[in-house]
Amino acid sequence: MKYIYFKEEHELFRQSVRQFFEKEVVPHINTWEAERRIPKSIMQKMGEQGYLGLNFPEQYGGIGADFWYSVVFLEELGRINLAGFSTMVSVHQYMAINHIFRAGSEDLKQRYLVPAIQGQKVAALGITEPVAGSDVANISTKAEKQGDFYIINGAKTFISNGTYGDFITLACKTNPSAGAGGISLIVVDLQSEGITRTKLNKMGWHSSDTAEISFDNVKVPTQNLIGKENMGFYYLMESLQLERLVAAIMAVPSAQAILDMTIQYLHERETFGKKLARYQVIRHTLSDLATEIEAARNLVYNTCWAFSQGEVVVKECSMAKLYASELANKVVDKCLQYFGGYGYMEDYPICRAYRDARVGTIAGGTSEIMREIISKVIIDRVDFKPVYDSLPSKQDLARV
Ligand SMILES: Cc1cc2nc3c(=O)[nH]c(=O)nc-3n(C[C@H](O)[C@H](O)[C@H](O)COP(=O)(O)OP(=O)(O)OC[C@H]3O[C@@H](n4cnc5c(N)ncnc54)[C@H](O)[C@@H]3O)c2cc1C
Repeated sequence: MKYIYFKEEHELFRQSVRQFFEKEVVPHINTWEAERRIPKSIMQKMGEQGYLGLNFPEQYGGIGADFWYSVVFLEELGRINLAGFSTMVSVHQYMAINHIFRAGSEDLKQRYLVPAIQGQKVAALGITEPVAGSDVANISTKAEKQGDFYIINGAKTFISNGTYGDFITLACKTNPSAGAGGISLIVVDLQSEGITRTKLNKMGWHSSDTAEISFDNVKVPTQNLIGKENMGFYYLMESLQLERLVAAIMAVPSAQAILDMTIQYLHERETFGKKLARYQVIRHTLSDLATEIEAARNLVYNTCWAFSQGEVVVKECSMAKLYASELANKVVDKCLQYFGGYGYMEDYPICRAYRDARVGTIAGGTSEIMREIISKVIIDRVDFKPVYDSLPSKQDLARV
């Protein structure tokens, strides 16, 4: 089926991304998962193709393409069902460096955005702390100003690209008594003195590197502040729209690929003299799943369209992430069942997909938090506004 959003050039781009992943990523999936590490060389290769700067302007090495190129790219990432890899790439491009582009100084853009788009430097985003995940306003990592430097103390956890990454867009308290209004975003080199990184062991996303990072009197130049001091929380809240949309975009083709591989298996496997594909109970279950995937795809596309028009789509991004990530879990759970014992074997890709899907309803904002945000809009009538270029009003601050 064709969708009105994609033009011929998007489909040509899809073919080239697909070929690139088939050649440069898919053959290495098992090695990267076993080694629990993805070599940085793949980021450099993607940088050379322009894949890490799709929506950034040419002056920073990007290709200045429209948002649908990113949708295509993310769909192809989702389709290969290697969530460890897609996390590395999506956190880098759509979560960490996005802030530098939106609010960072020219100096920051030259030092961090440009090499990140080239794939020379890998970026992480540091919000979550051991005692503050969903409750972002409650983080306690501090950045105290001393002359021309910030001195940073504290700890972050569950940070993707945290162990082997080169720099981090770090959320810190610059005014600890001000709650949400006291958070700033600061770019920190991950090789800085005073930083300790500990790799974490996960249920899934094995190839993605996830770290706990501690900061002990880490000295960072004040030029590394992104945008305005104490505006970090609002930058984060606005950019989390994109983060959630990105997660939703990838979840749909991932679920579709699982469904497709299951259908193929049902045509091959026989019990009681019949192919599994002939059993009505299975046919109806898969028909329901296919219908829900199609509904999710349309919700995601429509949200992408509104987002690409510059609309503030906080509610819709939360709905898309909630629905698509919950559905991805449901699809892989139901489909694994039809593989019988083989679904539980590591040799079958659905086994890894099952482990990988689980965190989709947790990372980047849990399903419960998505429901909280949706409730704020539909029940409390909160009207979220763009914040990058303007300070929020006292009323806006009170509503967060
Ligand atoms: C593999 C992985 C990669 C990650 N990558 C990153 C990263 O790169 N950068 C980063 O900053 N973070 C990252 N995270 C962190 C992730 O965003 C957080 O785990 C998530 O936001 C939840 O925070 P928490 O784990 O502290 O859970 P908590 O906030 O402690 O929540 C625990 C449970 O309580 C529920 N809950 C909390 N508050 C409410 C409420 N008000 N109403 C109802 N239920 C509630 C939650 O939904 C959840 O079910 C990653 C996490 C994982 C697992």
